Amino acid sequence: MTPWWHTRQWRMIQTNLREIDMLDIDAQQVVSDMQDFRANVLLLNAAGIIASYRTQLPFHFQSPFLKGDSLQEIVTACHAADIRVMARTDFSKVRRPHFEQHPEWAYRTVDGDIVDYNGDVHVCINGPYQQEYMPRIMDELFSEVPFDGIFFNMGGYQTRDYSGNYYGICHCQHCQAAFGEMYGMALPDAEDVADPVFRAYQAFKRQTLAQHHETIFRFINGRWPNMCIANHTEFRFGFIRQESNTAIERPLPHWQYNASDNTKWAVGSFPEMVSSNTTVDFIDFPYRHVTVSPEQQRLRLAQNLANGGALDYYLIGRLDNHEDRCGFDAVKDVFHYHAANEETYTDIASKAQVMLLKARINTGEYRGWFRVLVENHVLFDVVREDAAEDVSWDHYSAIVVPGVDTMTDALADRLDAFAEAGGTLVVTGRSGFFDENHTPREVPALESLGIEDVLHVREDSRSSYLRLVDKAGFSRFDETELVYVDGVYVFAAYDETAEARMRLIPPHNFGPPERCYYDLVVDHPGLVVHPYGAGRAIYVPWMPGTLFHRQGHVNTAWFCADLLEGFAGVSPVGGNLSPMVEVTLAAKQDGSYLLLSLVNTSGHFGNSFYAPVPMVGVEVAMPLDAAPAAVYGLRSKQALPYIWDDGVLTVTVTKLELFEAIRIDVA
Ligand SMILES: [Zn+2]
Repeated sequence: MTPWWHTRQWRMIQTNLREIDMLDIDAQQVVSDMQDFRANVLLLNAAGIIASYRTQLPFHFQSPFLKGDSLQEIVTACHAADIRVMARTDFSKVRRPHFEQHPEWAYRTVDGDIVDYNGDVHVCINGPYQQEYMPRIMDELFSEVPFDGIFFNMGGYQTRDYSGNYYGICHCQHCQAAFGEMYGMALPDAEDVADPVFRAYQAFKRQTLAQHHETIFRFINGRWPNMCIANHTEFRFGFIRQESNTAIERPLPHWQYNASDNTKWAVGSFPEMVSSNTTVDFIDFPYRHVTVSPEQQRLRLAQNLANGGALDYYLIGRLDNHEDRCGFDAVKDVFHYHAANEETYTDIASKAQVMLLKARINTGEYRGWFRVLVENHVLFDVVREDAAEDVSWDHYSAIVVPGVDTMTDALADRLDAFAEAGGTLVVTGRSGFFDENHTPREVPALESLGIEDVLHVREDSRSSYLRLVDKAGFSRFDETELVYVDGVYVFAAYDETAEARMRLIPPHNFGPPERCYYDLVVDHPGLVVHPYGAGRAIYVPWMPGTLFHRQGHVNTAWFCADLLEGFAGVSPVGGNLSPMVEVTLAAKQDGSYLLLSLVNTSGHFGNSFYAPVPMVGVEVAMPLDAAPAAVYGLRSKQALPYIWDDGVLTVTVTKLELFEAIRIDVA
């Protein structure tokens, strides 16, 4: 039987209920508010820190606020309206009285202290509460209330509280015993990748988390096979829940492609799961009652849809008592659009030919390349490193590996094999210089790079440049001789078949002006093209993505774009698109139409989000074998003018506001 979440286009709303919201919650009001948004999946608080239903379990804290309609009544009313309901649970903390009964459940600092945040005491994933009591709570919850799915808040190893205070690695008796048993060592005191004990602890975390995931997944799926389970990606089942949010202390620059990024990696890595990336209504935890710009929320939702994801909106409290409702119309706008066009968004898959690998480290390098790809209109997918060994790469002609320092042998072997079979790799920085536990390798893992020896890694290259000696392939540099470099530069010896391009100008004087000139240019390259089997690897021994993400200069973006087009053979979508327009292309599985999506990001201005500036006379050109049967704009609800000539389709969008989705019916 097809699971229910694959039989509908998913539009979720999470009303993150406070205790007091249960005082007068009304099941029919919940349903009509959901219908007003045309939402068809609801996520609300059920169990864990607080039991929002009548519990018989002695250590499940009974909410004293259950005066309104019950969870049973709410779920039943939703089901009658064809709205599915997910249970939000949080097993990361217990109320203080339960801790006093079970002090062995608690997370412990290196000094043996607990974390008590507003009367909620942090518990450890390796303790009996999460290992043994959590299944008992789920058993009772699902027996009492007919939920359709489950979401776990703050699963795994937590080291911070809601104020962001850091407490370090858990040193509870269960962690000590398990780590000692598995590795024969005492727990490390601090998180330091230079410490081999901490590297072992990272492996310990991965193994214990995988074990816990497996136990919980098997328990739920065995008992309730139609339960949609969140974020258990190993099983490629259920949904991936992420947030597009803001935070007061988050370092700038603002990540304007947040929703595209979250959706791309979820869809690209786990296509069997629903990608539910939510637009978080509020500014940050300390300001949950005031809403971010409505246009920021609308942009996030448009990015979700353009990249093959579902819609999801998350606010504190209920829809009928929310004090800042300014985001409602924007969210409804996209939800209603999706409801009206959901058939077109069903059973479609990306047609991208480039893959960007996503790792947990060097986020800036990844985001810089993400921007380069979007803003140069390259069609690309994102695959996360832990899924990269499992998904098909058959439809990719090029893969970008942005500063993926730590890499398993298996992934490196697969990347090499991809190049050997005729693909192109674009690899930057220290990719593959370390194994998955961050232990340095003697030789970088990727043989395809042609690196024979790493001579030295300079961490600070400030005031270095690369000089363009031969401009073949560099079409954007007619008036420019230099590319600036900062941060890491890798000095390496390459094998003799490698073609080295550009020459390094090492750090030199930058003041006073009288001394601002260089007199040394050395034989170390800015990029290296290395033939490998039927394909090749292009190695960049520095970190242009990091530079572009942080500084945003076109000097860097031009280098990356020329590398892709002039060296890696990548062809972007044509036309007259602004760099501020994101473009994606998907195809219906039966081949009947293509869906070309445009998202106008021009409302992102500094650190604010306004309505995007409308663009007129937007042209998009792409290869198409035969003239299309019809070209239709779903957002503007009209046939769009187009020209098909000699294998190229050019569509004109008369006026592009936030987004357009162009359905191209194949003849
Ligand atoms: Zn512990």
